[in-house]
Amino acid sequence: MILPHPGPAAGPLLVAQSFLLMEPPVIITDLVQIKQLGEKKRDENFKFRSFMKSRDHSDRILRRIAEGIQERIDCTQCANCCKTSTTEVTGRDIEKLARHLHTTPERFIADYTMLEEDEGQMTRVLKFSEAAGCVFLEGNLCSVYDARPGICQRYPHLVRGNGSIASRMWQFVDRASVCPIVYNCLEAFKDELRFRR
Ligand code: SF4
Ligand code: SF4
Repeated sequence: MILPHPGPAAGPLLVAQSFLLMEPPVIITDLVQIKQLGEKKRDENFKFRSFMKSRDHSDRILRRIAEGIQERIDCTQCANCCKTSTTEVTGRDIEKLARHLHTTPERFIADYTMLEEDEGQMTRVLKFSEAAGCVFLEGNLCSVYDARPGICQRYPHLVRGNGSIASRMWQFVDRASVCPIVYNCLEAFKDELRFRR
């Protein structure tokens, strides 16, 4: 049983040159503050999303900034994503988790998943309750860490994900009020790209 979503970044801590020249940013991890600030900055973050789409910038630098921030945040002290959002599972995730738990995929589906409506489509997700979060969350730790679904491995999709960070920005406005990594990355990206708040 180890930590929730992303886990430690692989490889050495690399940060962008311009980021290195700045004072290390103050990292906010208090979840009450993250919720308040993420909601307060919602409109600003939508503007920033348009700003990013309309300008050229180095995705490599933004990824390095995101790696640096992810390194400084301990997911075992948070687990807010596992407590607040449902997790979609693919057929491959189900097979892997069933093997990990020494059960069959059919039994796994019955015992650990449920259907959720998402924009008119039914999606299979891990069982989830408002009170306890994901069925596999124990305290702040993931009880199936080595076999956790792919979406959990990539979350919050800043360092790992398909396409550029700008192309994934639509996900981050909502996540900025849930995930300290996302909130702090958006603030650091704004500084890096000299976005006028
Ligand atoms: S919400 Fe973000 S910071 Fe918190 S555990 Fe999930 S990925 Fe880590
Ligand atoms: S399987 Fe559940 S507890 Fe584990 S990382 Fe994914 S959402 Fe969190």
